[in-house]
Amino acid sequence: MQTTDSLLEAIAPAPGAPGTELFDPATGELVGVAPVHGLAELEAAISAAKAAQPTWAAAGHQARSAALVAAAEAVEAHAEELARILSREQGKPLNGPNARFEVGACAAWLRTAAATELEPETVVDDGSTRAVLQYRPIGLVGAIGPWNWPLMITVWQIAPALRMGNAVIVKPSEYTPLSVLALVKVINAAVPEGLLTVVAGGREVGEALAEHPAIGKVMFTGSTATGKAIIRSSADTVKRLTLELGGNDAGIVLPDADPAPIAEGLFWGAFINTGQTCAALKRLYVHEDIYDQVCDALTEYAKNVPMGVGLDEQNVLGPLQNRAQYEIVARLVEAAKASGARVLLGGDPDETRPGYFYPTTLVADIDNNNPLVAEEQFGPALPIIKYSTVEDAIQMANGLEVGLGASVWSADPHAARQVAQRLEAGSVWINAHGTVHPMAPFGGAKQSGYGLEFGAEGLKALGQPQVIHG
Ligand code: NAD
Repeated sequence: MQTTDSLLEAIAPAPGAPGTELFDPATGELVGVAPVHGLAELEAAISAAKAAQPTWAAAGHQARSAALVAAAEAVEAHAEELARILSREQGKPLNGPNARFEVGACAAWLRTAAATELEPETVVDDGSTRAVLQYRPIGLVGAIGPWNWPLMITVWQIAPALRMGNAVIVKPSEYTPLSVLALVKVINAAVPEGLLTVVAGGREVGEALAEHPAIGKVMFTGSTATGKAIIRSSADTVKRLTLELGGNDAGIVLPDADPAPIAEGLFWGAFINTGQTCAALKRLYVHEDIYDQVCDALTEYAKNVPMGVGLDEQNVLGPLQNRAQYEIVARLVEAAKASGARVLLGGDPDETRPGYFYPTTLVADIDNNNPLVAEEQFGPALPIIKYSTVEDAIQMANGLEVGLGASVWSADPHAARQVAQRLEAGSVWINAHGTVHPMAPFGGAKQSGYGLEFGAEGLKALGQPQVIHG
């Protein structure tokens, strides 16, 4: 725990300045104190960004890429400190696909943004017309993020923004400001002063960012409701937006799937980060012929996965990050129980245990209209719905207003791809769920948002397209 202290001290509020205490959701222990920023700090950050951005834009792709590589190296040098702060503040364990994994992803996405080239594209050259499409910096970018993967999502927003010559103002979630302040402190050793600033305020700072005339683009990841508010508050300044919003991803297990070998993939597709993941499997549709076997195989796998305090090395599942999220999960599982659905595992939280721990929960024989299916639970409770025909499963999967990810599980990749093409989701995985790659574009369908992140498409989203004729 000692190793986190120097970074936490470096980001603490100045003596006499207002601060907010952040507590470990697993233990209730104090993690650290974050500064409380408001509109004055936002204006100061915008002034600094305006001063720094033109030189950064003029530095060119090579210099900016070199800075991002240096930023990745700095993150790697501080990886364990960052993982420990993240684990204590967010609750996710150090091990498994959690805190250390998340910090590793930050370095990987920084390196990929540095290595990805975006060459001007000659779109017409027919002898009479010559037109070249290229991307200029936008200027100032606002990056507003959630609390579930606070470091990784911040890097997803800032790495392409910086790479394309922009300055960035980061507005972290009020639940996880320490992690983001620490990450940006580390990255700032590698980029010019003023270019990248965290304004650790509440939703009023997010609103002000979305309205501010100096901000040309907002990268937002969070709930669909907040995304809609940002669309409204950015309307007067016609801002560019990338919106990565809520999801309620369906997975369809086709009748030819072999239950035992897919159980581990199904489990982690649903329970990664203890279910607090935008593109996690949140509704599982299983064909009636293999329904009981899939339920048994999942229960067998799930019951042995350790959940507990993040800093204990053996744990790979943690608490819910906050009380409000705990209550959403508990309410939805109670609704399922009240409807007569069958609890295969969990569903009985120990209210005497400290921390926001909700046990790993699997619920079978549940109706597709049950709130645990229809609403985004964002926690460790998976409903398993039985279907009779693949047509029915596709219809149920497509039946919601959101469409972030989806998955199809089958022994026949061709049959799985046929189903995948019919699913209304931005990403569809076959025999996996939620795996992301820094070069594979990621974005939502329907009310899960718009715009793409990652790879060359992600860089384009942080540039102003410009066509030069002649
Ligand atoms: P949230 O929408 O409550 O908050 C996200 C951020 O928006 C916070 O920093 C918050 O302070 C800020 N904010 C709140 N109101 C605002 C306003 N009116 N204007 C501007 N900013 C405002 O989301 P959350 O609870 O932190 O995150 C969970 C949600 O995020 C889930 O629905 C999840 O599915 C979604 N999510 C999506 C992705 C994705 O890539 N699509 C990734 C992670 C999480």
